[in-house]
Parts: sequence; C-alpha cells; structure tokens
Amino acid sequence: MRGTVVSKTRTGNNDLLAGKNSLVTGSTSGIGLGIARRLAECGANVMVNGLGDHDQVDAAVRAVDDAGPGKVVFSPANMIQPAEINAMVEEAVDTFGAIDILVNNAGIQFVSPIQDFPPEKWDDIIATNLSSSFHTIRAATPHMIAAGWGRIINISSLHALVASPYKAAYVAAKHGVAGLTQVVALELAQQNIPVNSIAPASVESPLVTGQIADTARVRGITEEEVVRDVMLAAQPTKKFVQIDEIAE
Ligand code: NAD
Repeated sequence: MRGTVVSKTRTGNNDLLAGKNSLVTGSTSGIGLGIARRLAECGANVMVNGLGDHDQVDAAVRAVDDAGPGKVVFSPANMIQPAEINAMVEEAVDTFGAIDILVNNAGIQFVSPIQDFPPEKWDDIIATNLSSSFHTIRAATPHMIAAGWGRIINISSLHALVASPYKAAYVAAKHGVAGLTQVVALELAQQNIPVNSIAPASVESPLVTGQIADTARVRGITEEEVVRDVMLAAQPTKKFVQIDEIAE
C-alpha cells in the first residue's frame, strides 16, 4: 500500500480541511485511526502511519480511504527510528505537494513498578511517545513555514498533567509532550501555525483495554476494579471518552 494514491469523488463536510494534506502518526488503530478517518471525511488527503500486521494495516487504510474524497497513502515508518520519521515526512510532501496538518499520535504504554521497569521499555516509550514528535515537527515545520499555513496537534494525555503509579516512562514522556507543545507553539505563533495538544483521560481504545489485565495483576485487584477504581476514578462522567469525540 505504500505510495498508493486513491482518488474519489465524494465530498467532505468541512471546508477548512478540504484539500489539506495531513499526516497522522499511529493511525492504524484507536484514536489515530479515528482522527485519520475524520480528516478524510472532511476532505483532507491523509498519510496513515503505524504498525500492525498486514490485515490490520490494510483494514485501517481502507477505512480512511472509504471515509472521504481525498488521497490516502500509508507509511510504515517506525516512530522509534528518526531516519524513518524524516523519510516519512518527505514522502508526505513528495506525494501531496505539501504537509499542512501534522497529528502526533503514535504512543505505547508499559506498566511496572519503577524498580522492575525494563530500561529498554523506558527507551522505547520515550522514543515513541515523545522524541518522535520532536522529529516530525522538526521535519515538517520548514514546509509549513514556506506555505504560510500549518496546524500541529500533539495527542498527549491526562498524564501530561498528573501522574499515576507504575507508568514512569509514559508519564515522563507525556509531560515532555506538554513542554514540547508549548515551546513550539511560542516559536510558531507568528507563522500561522498554531500548535496544540489534546490531553484525554481514559479513551476506549486498544491501548487502554489492553492495559486492564496488566494493571489488575500489578495492583492485585480485579479487572472490574481496574476500570471502576483506577481508569475511571477521576473521570467525572464515569465513562470512557469515545474516539470520535477526540477526532471531532
Ligand atoms: P492504540 O494502541 O490503539 O494505537 C496506537 C497507534 O500507535 C497504533 O496505530 C500503533 O501502530 C502506533 N504505534 C505504536 N508504536 C509505533 C511505532 N513505533 N511506530 C509507528 N506507529 C506506532 O492507542 P490509542 O489509545 O489510540 O493511543 C493513541 C495516542 O493517544 C497515544 O499517544 C496515547 O498515549 C494517547 N492517549 C490515549 C488515551 C487512551 O485512554 N486510550 C488517553 C490519553 C492519551
């Protein structure tokens, strides 16, 4: 699917986004897939990125492709690898002619007490959840400045603002995303490139549902207690945020 460009005739429903060229990291699943679909529905061209087996990637690209009239391409760039990130941004520019909207969404999680936290998991989470955003922004910004228009959205987390135990790398990385967002927002404020982050609490996505069993084991409680007393404890609605709410 890499480099495949599909043209369609259906129109989107958001003039601001129609014809814009977007890149959403980590968009083969969950929140990123929801954002990529919504951008496509609004008429944007979308570069989908992420990991996954062939069937998962194929299904995600088709879902984005079917959502709107624009071009949809896939990049398998691994967000742990700076060289692949740079090549992905250049491929987006080569394919679409520009990169107008960058959504940094790729993220992973690992839950462990600090004394047992594997150093390689720390490195992977910092690279994926924080450093990848530095590399995409660094590569995309010159193109946005040259075009005089750009939008950068970093998907951070409630954990950019508060901590939870057993999530040392994730919480550190997301606090870093909050700082990076504010720095770049200041630097690009006069260039017509607003830089924002979205900091959701618990969203019903594979990343969260996949943590329930591990969290239950680490804390010695049931999975029902994890959902009620850990994941939704501070959530006033006592319901998971839905992916479509973030994408909107
Ligand atoms: P998810 O597991 O459903 O999706 C993660 C995406 O990132 C997938 O497409 C995956 O392939 C991709 N990815 C992971 N490692 C990658 C790598 N090395 N290179 C390229 N792609 C990679 O997770 P999600 O819940 O949709 O989370 C998306 C983002 O939202 C993450 O940054 C996460 O921290 C953040 N977030 C999620 C929640 C939540 O409750 N789900 C809450 C706050 C923030």
